[in-house]
Parts: sequence; C-alpha cells; structure tokens
Amino acid sequence: MYFDPNLANISARKIEGEKIMAKIRVLIAKPGLDGHDRGALVISQALRDRGMEVIYTGLRQSPVQIAQAAIQEDVDVVGVSSLSGAHNTLFPKIIEELKKRGAEDIPVIGGGVIPAEDIPFLIDSGIKKVFTSGASTDALANYIEQLIDSNQTSITPKKIAHIGIAVKQIDSVLSFYTDNLGLELEGIEDIPDEHVKAAFLKIGDSRLELLEPLDSASPIQQFLDKKGEGIHHIALEVDDIHGRVAQLKQEGVPLINDQPKQGAHNSQIAFIHPKAAGRVLFELCEKDEAGDV
Ligand code: ZN
Repeated sequence: MYFDPNLANISARKIEGEKIMAKIRVLIAKPGLDGHDRGALVISQALRDRGMEVIYTGLRQSPVQIAQAAIQEDVDVVGVSSLSGAHNTLFPKIIEELKKRGAEDIPVIGGGVIPAEDIPFLIDSGIKKVFTSGASTDALANYIEQLIDSNQTSITPKKIAHIGIAVKQIDSVLSFYTDNLGLELEGIEDIPDEHVKAAFLKIGDSRLELLEPLDSASPIQQFLDKKGEGIHHIALEVDDIHGRVAQLKQEGVPLINDQPKQGAHNSQIAFIHPKAAGRVLFELCEKDEAGDV
C-alpha cells in the first residue's frame, strides 16, 4: 500500500490543531468611523479557516460596545482594526472599558494602518501586540494560538545567541577583540562541515563568532569574495526550532534550511533567506542541554 509521509504529517497536525483551537474564541472589532471592513472580513475568515470561532462586530463600534461584546461573547482575545488614524485614542479606550468591567485579562491585539512610531505607545497602553499592514494572516493566527494556549512555546526569540563576523584570518584581528575590546576568548575550533574555523568571544550571555574560511568551498570565502570582511549573520536563540521553522515556512518566509540541521556544540540551526530580511542573514538556533550555540 502506498504511504505518503507528508500526508500523514498534515493530518496529524490538523488533528492536534483542532484539539487546541476548538477553544479559541476571537472578537474582531472595527472601532471608529472608517467604513472599510474588507481587511477585517479577510482576517475573520482566515481565523475561521484555522478552526477558531470568530465573532465580527461590524463597522463603527464604540470602545464601550466592543468591551461589552467581548464579555458577552466570552472571547479569549479581541482583535481591533483601525484604518482611520484614530487608533491612539480608540485602542487605549477599549483597554480602559475592559478594565472598568473587570475584564482586563482579555488580551487585545491591534492591526490596520498603524505607523510604526505609534506601536510603542499602544503597547504601553496595554495592547498586547500590533500587527502592521504587511503581516500575513498566518502570522496572526500563529500568534493567537501561542498567546492562548500555554502549552505552545513562545515564538519570541530568547536572545541574540551570537553575531557571526566573516574575517580573512582570525589571528590578525583577534587582538582587537580580546585586548582592545576586552572580550574573553572561550575557544577556537574547526567546524569542517561548514568549512569554517570559528573563534568564540563571550559577551554577556551572547557571543561574537569570528568566522574564517577553511577552504575555497567555504560559504565564508564566498562572502569574503563578494562583500569583504564584515558582519555575516545574526543568530537568534529560539525554543522548539522545528516548530518555529515549520511556522515560518507556513507564513511564506523564504528559508535557506527548511529543516533544522546540526550546528556547533550540539545545537540545531536553520538559516532564513536574507531576501526575507532586507539582506540580513538570520540564523535560528536551539541549544541542546547546557551546550553553547
Ligand atoms: Zn552562527
């Protein structure tokens, strides 16, 4: 009998997903005066497609009406969208109205047309997260799932694990890092699989990694030929790298490694394609036990 492992994976995920998402109730609300709800309707449908129960308030709801609906409908999360530019007044007002009714534990997520410079103010006012207009509905759905289901690991990276710096020769630049900057050299090792020699310099809980090519097949050599010495990549430490990579793939983010691979010191790593991030190469890594990454 023919057995397709990909199909098996998809249905396993779906079953697991349905179990988790049966619980999630979302109120999608449009406060204020703008008369466009295409975006809100698209989001409502996308969340329904992911198995959530979505209640849409309709246009031009007041913060009081939205808070009341959230409580009456007993939702897990409120998504508010504004295109009118009044988000700085309306979003905090919704938080306030929820608080007045003892429902401040219902998280509120904002979206619509929100200038980046307004986001810190909205977060300060109690909005849990703000999605900008370029965000995918999958990213929003993934965020809601991890927000509501405490069994899911956080998608937020834990820290900068290291910054990789391409150098022609470790020996000729090392004294700047150790003597002038005063960083501690933890070790130097050859990583033949990656065709690099790496020097690990400790800085707080993070590291700088000086990367020297071991041979002409090294990606670091190709980088040096193209761009010269300089910052090569930024590595972010994550929990559950397999889940994270699968999620990014689903969100349409281009990846260099669509499966995590073995990195230095027993870590699992995967690179995101630089075209996803304004030509910056990001590495995700998950460390094993107490090992470094
Ligand atoms: Zn790295």
